[in-house]
Amino acid sequence: MKPDAVLVYGCAALILALAAGCGAPPAPPPAPPAVPLAACDGARALAEIRSFLAISPRDAGTPNAQRAADYLAGALRAHGVAAERQDFADAVPGGATIFHNVIGRLPGRGAGLVILCAHFDTKSGIPGFVGANDSGSGVGVLLELARILAPTWQGAPEIWFAFFDGEECRTDYGPHDGLHGSRHLAQQLVAAGRTNDVHAVILLDMIGDRDLTVTLPPNGDARLLALVLDAAAQEGARAKFGLAPGPVLDDHQPFLDAGLPAVDLIDFIYGSAPGLNDYWHTEADTLDKLSAESLQTIGRVVLRMLTEL
Ligand SMILES: [Zn+2]
Repeated sequence: MKPDAVLVYGCAALILALAAGCGAPPAPPPAPPAVPLAACDGARALAEIRSFLAISPRDAGTPNAQRAADYLAGALRAHGVAAERQDFADAVPGGATIFHNVIGRLPGRGAGLVILCAHFDTKSGIPGFVGANDSGSGVGVLLELARILAPTWQGAPEIWFAFFDGEECRTDYGPHDGLHGSRHLAQQLVAAGRTNDVHAVILLDMIGDRDLTVTLPPNGDARLLALVLDAAAQEGARAKFGLAPGPVLDDHQPFLDAGLPAVDLIDFIYGSAPGLNDYWHTEADTLDKLSAESLQTIGRVVLRMLTEL
């Protein structure tokens, strides 16, 4: 992919040089699309999470999963984004389950597709679990981005807001356990012949922790990883972003497997003391552990990345 991209840019530069030689001024590069950075409101994202958590738990295959999906489709529409619930059956350990993805589509002014995504289901088998950070945080930031981008997006690529069901596995991650929604969307893109359209898949997962320490999985697209770090630096938040020590299996992986550029913004240090992750998958994953500031930082980092995509 990368050598081809270099070749394409090289040819474009040659054509521009030839055009200049014939007396025609080279066309200036298109200006990056303006994004409403100042409008991104972490308090609103936090409020979105608070409302969404009324539907808890949201285990895949339960009535609450469908309620959550319908809620998200309605929330996207309320923000002015066309949205649909997509139901699909997939094998799970011991049988099959109906899953519900939600896709919101915001048109672009040109070609290409950027997918902003998060899962919305909860890990099953945890008494009292609401999943404020896992999965409410990604949901809240996506809805806030939908709110501010719907009336303002002027960039070339279409933006999809994708909410995945069935990220959590029941027993162990495998081809038929976990990552159901993301695998389904990746397969849909392949089947539709749209893989070359996708500029980026940006996944948000567990990004609301008051003590924000984004641990970017190294299994991600190199250019997108660099864009995340650049955007974080522009936000003055570079110290809160680093690379995870090893790969992380999350909803970005099916897109990587399909050859699409994907990156996962995840903070996998979510606990009662620095370095601990002891709130993860426990009833302690509650709204009071999150902060509007962290959510706003993530939202603004994603917005800055959009100007480069
Ligand atoms: Zn989880």
